[in-house]
Amino acid sequence: MAEPNNAALLMEIESAMGIDSYEIAVGLPSLILQYLGDNSGGGAPGEMSDILDEIGSSTEDDDDHVDELSDDAPAVVRLVSRVLHDAKRLNASDIHIDPEKNAPTRVRMRVDGVCRDMSQVPNSHHNAVIARIKIMSNLNIAEKRVPQDGKLAFRMNGQLVEVRVATIPTVAGEGVVMRILASGGAMPIDKMNLAPTNRSRLEEMIKKPHGILLVVGPTGSGKTTTLHAILGYLNTPEKKIWTAEDPVEITQPGLQQVQVSPKIGFTFANALRAFLRADPDIILIGEMRDKETAHAGIEASLTGHLVLSTLHTNSAPETITRLLDLGLDPVNFSDACVGILAQRLIRTLCSNCKEKYVATETDLAFIERQYGQAHIAELNISRPLELYKAKGCEECGNTGYKGRTGVHELLGMTPELRSLVYKEASVADMKKQATHDGMRTLVQDAIFKVLKGDTDLAQVQIVGGD
Ligand SMILES: [Zn+2]
Repeated sequence: MAEPNNAALLMEIESAMGIDSYEIAVGLPSLILQYLGDNSGGGAPGEMSDILDEIGSSTEDDDDHVDELSDDAPAVVRLVSRVLHDAKRLNASDIHIDPEKNAPTRVRMRVDGVCRDMSQVPNSHHNAVIARIKIMSNLNIAEKRVPQDGKLAFRMNGQLVEVRVATIPTVAGEGVVMRILASGGAMPIDKMNLAPTNRSRLEEMIKKPHGILLVVGPTGSGKTTTLHAILGYLNTPEKKIWTAEDPVEITQPGLQQVQVSPKIGFTFANALRAFLRADPDIILIGEMRDKETAHAGIEASLTGHLVLSTLHTNSAPETITRLLDLGLDPVNFSDACVGILAQRLIRTLCSNCKEKYVATETDLAFIERQYGQAHIAELNISRPLELYKAKGCEECGNTGYKGRTGVHELLGMTPELRSLVYKEASVADMKKQATHDGMRTLVQDAIFKVLKGDTDLAQVQIVGGD
């Protein structure tokens, strides 16, 4: 070991290996890692199949008592490293290491929102793989009965990649799910694929010196990416911008970004109060989880700041009733709100293999029904109408899709809508008014993106019609 005086580490080794007498040998960290076979410089840790072969040939199958730090360690170290590198290369968002009873452990990765089987690890090495991941994320390797969460980081092509790690004990053994945090800078607002009218309406809203703009949608709908695109647009030396996030995934020079930590009592509401004493122009609050945070956010926007935040609601109009249900004052909220942007991510067709076809009568009827009679004319649909569909090629893993793009529903606060909020009108009434004022629903925006050739009609159904 490199730190013979680290008592906590010694105790962890003792408890993990169940030993109480041992000799300590001291070495430089780089030499120890070299001995363990970890080329942590970020080079290729070997092909997955080679590593699995090596593991397979050295198995002696005394299942239950596989020593987690035994001779196999170097191969396991390389295996975990390979999984992490593959995930980053495929642009996966999550890695799942799923234990199976009396069967090999499954390694799956979520790419473009869908899980894919990647490889299998022999049952006998499951514990060693989990232990390796836990060591990398500073988790307690001896504790296998309760969920733990931590973080690890690795380097690939000189870039630091951060990973959030959660372990969960299942009946088949301990499972691990790793979330690869988006790294690097913000997406430019032009790359958001906003429909032209949404783009200009959104710009109007975020140019206001004060008010609150909410970005809403379920987990994994790209809310953080959108907020950072907006901040990137607003980020100039004249503006002081504070952000409170959990976790901080995207960093931008010029922003003052704060990682909140509810575990130690540093909540979004605490951060917001601190920001208000720190001369802000623009404040980002990662999420309005509770009444206290929502209330503080509205107050901040009413006292002359532009506040950005998110909420887990399905649609823009529904967000209003959710906040009023939380106990917010309808007058304060409608005065403060400049807009609500609901969004989803849909899969885009692989540009290498997508196929042009002429829309059938059924397709046209579907489009008309989903977009609605009232607004269909604005699409200027020509006949025959050419659309694209998924085919599949080597580049897209035969799925026909590659990458994702956003669909948006942007509600603007108009005087008419404001008076409905005062009256705490129904979601349906507010939706009707918002649509009249220029809002197009998620489904309508998805149809627009089908006509643009970004995606196919199947993806519209995923957004969900009503
Ligand atoms: Zn393709």
